[in-house]
Amino acid sequence: MRMSQYFLPTMKETPSEAQIVSHRLMLRAGLVRQTSAGIYAWLPLGLRVLRNIERVVREEQDAAGAQEVLMPTIQSADLWRESGRYDAYGPEMLRIKDRHDREMLYGPTNEEMITVLFREGVKSYRDLPKNLYHIQWKFRDEVRPRFGVMRGREFLMKDNYSFDIDKAGAIHSYNRMFVAYLRTFARMGLKAIPMRADTGPIGGDLSHEFIILAETGESAVFCHKGLVDKDILSRKIDYSADLQGIVNEWTSLYAATDEMHDAKAFEALPEGERLAARGIEVGHIFYFGTKYSKPMNAVVAGPGGEQITVEMGSYGIGVSRLVGGIIEASHDDAGIVWPDEVAPFKVAIVNLKPDDGAVGGACQKLYEALGAKGVSVLHDDRDMRPGGKFADMDLIGIPWQVIVGPKGLASGKVEVKNRRTGAREEMAPEQVLARFG
Ligand code: ATP
Ligand code: MG
Repeated sequence: MRMSQYFLPTMKETPSEAQIVSHRLMLRAGLVRQTSAGIYAWLPLGLRVLRNIERVVREEQDAAGAQEVLMPTIQSADLWRESGRYDAYGPEMLRIKDRHDREMLYGPTNEEMITVLFREGVKSYRDLPKNLYHIQWKFRDEVRPRFGVMRGREFLMKDNYSFDIDKAGAIHSYNRMFVAYLRTFARMGLKAIPMRADTGPIGGDLSHEFIILAETGESAVFCHKGLVDKDILSRKIDYSADLQGIVNEWTSLYAATDEMHDAKAFEALPEGERLAARGIEVGHIFYFGTKYSKPMNAVVAGPGGEQITVEMGSYGIGVSRLVGGIIEASHDDAGIVWPDEVAPFKVAIVNLKPDDGAVGGACQKLYEALGAKGVSVLHDDRDMRPGGKFADMDLIGIPWQVIVGPKGLASGKVEVKNRRTGAREEMAPEQVLARFG
């Protein structure tokens, strides 16, 4: 992408409505714009990040055996009357009437809808287990939408639902998602800690929230320090094998959100191992047995023809919240520092002298050659002074900057800067191709 053509409205000033750093940076770097309270438009750069997060989520869901579907945003109220949640949900639910006066709603979550799809599509125990996910916009009329996309009213969620024949199967499904979540967040450069959590209005008796630590987090959290640096990515995971051992490794260390906090158990830890902090919830998983399948009659025929009410779980990831969460975890004074997997572009080319034909030619050649190798590149070909370009580049946080100026080029070199470390290296353009191609 050529920056001179790109819709990238960056801002120098700090927007006064933004209280936390991720919100400020998302506005300044031109990722989103608010259109009404808690509702955001995604601009090209922000959308690329959102799509990258979705991609990582999809890859990990698919690897763990979940199948993607896409359910609508608008649901019928009758669906929610079946589970008894229509009245229970309260003012967070956006209720709508269509032209025939039928009661509809903008889905805040999809347990009811998926249960009906399952009930109509699966009749025998032989077809279990099933695990279905989608990535879809939700609406919750939050009392206090704030912190930008972190607590929006309209937000993008990955939610999935597992169906098993018995409790043991359902726990295995839960464990698969537990491990898939560890991997998903780790790939995004986050240290997300699973913590025992309250099940809230979803119901059930087993639940973990995945929390990233940040001063601006909305929940108080308490955990064993050892959880912060535990690594999952170096392990080979076999999702068909028993995963309880891995889950136990994480859950045997103390970690709880304030609703579930057991001060005695926490204080029994040696002081040096205790971590009391604030955190952002980026994912939440639940095992809730037959809470929906029973009232909604989601049953399958068992081996002897008997009717079995299926055991369910549900699993959510805040895809749009993650954009803010990742920035909270990864920024510096100059701006955003994107982790590689989610970066909107991998490489930026910075042309220091756009009116110099040789420099322009070298930039264009690099841009095309990197593009041909499938590398995502943002080419700053704008006609402006280097200072402004450097500031914008640091603000938008692309991991690698290739800086091309007349002096370096005269000796056949360009400069490569790492956004995270600030380390700079001179090399020939061919080496740039070899490095990133
Ligand atoms: P919270 O406690 O933050 O209100 P929740 O427990 O109501 O969230 P879940 O129903 O567990 O949320 O939804 C799954 C995930 O969706 C959450 O872990 C979070 O990452 C994300 N999420 C929930 N509400 C919002 C929101 N208003 N804006 C952005 N993301 C959200
Ligand atoms: Mg939750």
